[in-house]
Amino acid sequence: MEPAKMDWPNLDFGYRKTDANLRFTWKDGAWSEGVMTQEETIPLHMASSCLHYGQECFEGLKAFSTRDGDVALFRIEENAARMIESCKRILMPPVPKEMFINAVMRVVQANRHYVPPYGTGASLYVRPLVIGIGPRIGVRPADEYLFIVFVTPVGPYFKTGFKPVHLVVEESMDRAAPLGVGNAKVGGNYAAGMRASMGAKERGFTEVLYLDAKHKKFIDESGPANFFAITKDGQYITPKSESILPSITNKSLITLADQMGLRPERRQIAVDEIFDFAEAGCCGTAAVITPVGSITWRDRKATYGDGETPGEYSTKLYKQLRAIQLGEAPDTHNWLTIVPDAGNEPTTTGGVFSTKTVSC
Ligand SMILES: *Cc1c(COP(=O)(O)O)cnc(C)c1O
Repeated sequence: MEPAKMDWPNLDFGYRKTDANLRFTWKDGAWSEGVMTQEETIPLHMASSCLHYGQECFEGLKAFSTRDGDVALFRIEENAARMIESCKRILMPPVPKEMFINAVMRVVQANRHYVPPYGTGASLYVRPLVIGIGPRIGVRPADEYLFIVFVTPVGPYFKTGFKPVHLVVEESMDRAAPLGVGNAKVGGNYAAGMRASMGAKERGFTEVLYLDAKHKKFIDESGPANFFAITKDGQYITPKSESILPSITNKSLITLADQMGLRPERRQIAVDEIFDFAEAGCCGTAAVITPVGSITWRDRKATYGDGETPGEYSTKLYKQLRAIQLGEAPDTHNWLTIVPDAGNEPTTTGGVFSTKTVSC
């Protein structure tokens, strides 16, 4: 299929209308068949639990055009598993793994010409979400839910490309509490973090770095991304905390760091260790790695390298993960799932898709 006519290399990270999205409703204990629609809005009762009590969770993953001309999804089973955990945490009916994967496949197939061509640096962002719907005014879980999968072609998260950003340690606001929902991908966490993020931007920083809410001593994560650092003796370290989101990108980087001999370790990282790092970075689906040039904490600033050039190991890790996503490096961990052509129409209740290893 011919790609849509778009200025692929200059796409921003924003919403663009595509051809179709897929919707399922949950009622009387079961999910409906999926309905494919062009409609971009949803009819919603004003007393829906998602609007008042935050019954909402979401996922984010990407489809890529590989060098061999396939369309591949990166680690979709991990997203499916994480969404089940998010749903359970806020008492929403989990979307079964198979249903999640089939739904994403169908939407990508239906919008295949919006998958950016190989070599453009762009990708197709997939956004699944679950919301509680229907009238409800008392605080109780909803009786009905909506599961939607939509896609939108996106360019790189940061327009400036793979360039270091500048973080500031946030001590006056927390994003999540230790036994709260910081480890679930729920919308409320984002609302809770917006004031801190905006405040940081007003002061000339790119994003905040949160500390653990209990001790205010250990690094948690950045607003929408996990945090990692490379120590001066060449170790990949990343925070161990109950209140951070288990990032699939971070999990993948840990695997790659291990292969590169960086002895990855998840451990509590005290904030004053920022002065000892050789490199620091944020990681997540949107940007893979965002190198961190400096971290400001109170009246002190830790700068990595010259503050403007990505570090050696961050760059290596970034390149390696991107190469796997694009089918340029062997997918030895089976992280890619090839989306079959639409002729091979999958069904919502149907079988499993093969996870084909992309050869080089
Ligand atoms: C989604 C998300 C991440 C990144 O997770 P990935 O699976 O790597 O995309 C990190 N932190 C928060 C708070 C998130 O919501």
